[in-house]
Amino acid sequence: MYGPEAGSMATASGLSSATAQTQLGVNTVGSSPDDLVSLHESIARLLAVQGNWKRAYSHLHAALRLAREAEQSAPAIPEQFRMQVAELHRAHAAAVHASLRDSLTAAYNRRYLDQRLAELLAENAADPRSPGIAVALVDLDLFKSVNDAHGHLVGDQVLRQVVRLMQAELPSTGFCARYGGEEFVLVLPDMSAAPAVGIVERVRRRVAAHSWSLLAPNLRVTISAGLMHVAGGECPTDIELCLGLADEALYAAKRAGRNVVSYRVANTIRFAGTDDSEH
Ligand code: GH3
Ligand code: MG
Ligand code: MG
Repeated sequence: MYGPEAGSMATASGLSSATAQTQLGVNTVGSSPDDLVSLHESIARLLAVQGNWKRAYSHLHAALRLAREAEQSAPAIPEQFRMQVAELHRAHAAAVHASLRDSLTAAYNRRYLDQRLAELLAENAADPRSPGIAVALVDLDLFKSVNDAHGHLVGDQVLRQVVRLMQAELPSTGFCARYGGEEFVLVLPDMSAAPAVGIVERVRRRVAAHSWSLLAPNLRVTISAGLMHVAGGECPTDIELCLGLADEALYAAKRAGRNVVSYRVANTIRFAGTDDSEH
């Protein structure tokens, strides 16, 4: 019990505990520290009115002690609560991260690509002053033979490493998503066609120049890419149409011998790093 017994004090002043509590409109059963502080203060007031100063002081003293105890113990509850909330935030962020990423490569997944690219295309279509947006479809060259020669586990490691290499070349506004199998999409918002082609060409060179033999003897890995660009204020806003156009360019890159970046300009397909000559 907190402080001097409220019941005995009230009885000493001519009131039973129950009567005092009823008169004061307070029930101590299940009371919070704040309620008990109020109860002691009320009894102290009652005793003071009756001239019972000593006991009134005793109740005031108990009220003060209770208030101090409540103040000291208060931070423990908010701190525990804060830690639980922080843990929930972490768990939620991890779940969101997992729902938007490909589990093998940690690139974004199709769900993220579909959502984000649709938003970016709509924003681009609504802003004629935007430099535009580029979408590149990337496909690993002859990847089946990588699996056949070095095994599926090495193939998986190749996919992870290719993603790391691609991401190292992307600006902070861009992103890489796994489209499926050994195909990826690079999205480059707020960018005109020429610098976008330059970035994808650097990606291609970086992959080709990587020391793949550290992963497996005689391993060589290259990629091909097809890029399409939408100027600011222009359609298409449809993802499938964009990816279809990028896929046509990719097909041309494969036909041109692989390890090539190709892109569409005014309905013609051109190749990066070859002075824009058509194949
Ligand atoms: P191309 O240059 O024409 O693209 O030839 P390719 O061999 O890369 O194309 P193909 O479509 O014949 O083969 C793709 C291969 O990618 C076959 C499939 O086993 C492999 N692949 C797809 N997803 C994964 C994966 O998650 N891990 C591994 N190790 N291999 C994968
Ligand atoms: Mg493929
Ligand atoms: Mg392939």
